[in-house]
Amino acid sequence: MNTQITAPFKKQLLEQRASLLAQLTTLRGGQVGRAEASAEHFGGQKEDSRAQLETERELEFTLDARENAELDAVDAALKRIENGSYGVCTDCGTDIPAARLHAAPETPRCIACQDKYEHSRRA
Ligand SMILES: [Zn+2]
Repeated sequence: MNTQITAPFKKQLLEQRASLLAQLTTLRGGQVGRAEASAEHFGGQKEDSRAQLETERELEFTLDARENAELDAVDAALKRIENGSYGVCTDCGTDIPAARLHAAPETPRCIACQDKYEHSRRA
């Protein structure tokens, strides 16, 4: 794919990247802020606040992991744009349909290979 074709995808990926980074920053900032707030608020009931804090941390960790995985996918796609392999399935080498790239510009695989990949991960 030439740069003229990949340009809009690159723009989309960079925007996606910026918003993921913003979300991760908010997530991390919120974690500290909320932990401090609830430590203060539950000063007299340490057990309760600890349990609540654990639940919140778990939730945030899960969100954090998902955002990070997405960020990795976006970074990998940007790298493929740079080295000219963008838009080609990383598994079978066929062109990924433009419609699929528009819907998910970070996708590294064609639909068939993505299906296979997801099945193999689930098994
Ligand atoms: Zn494929």
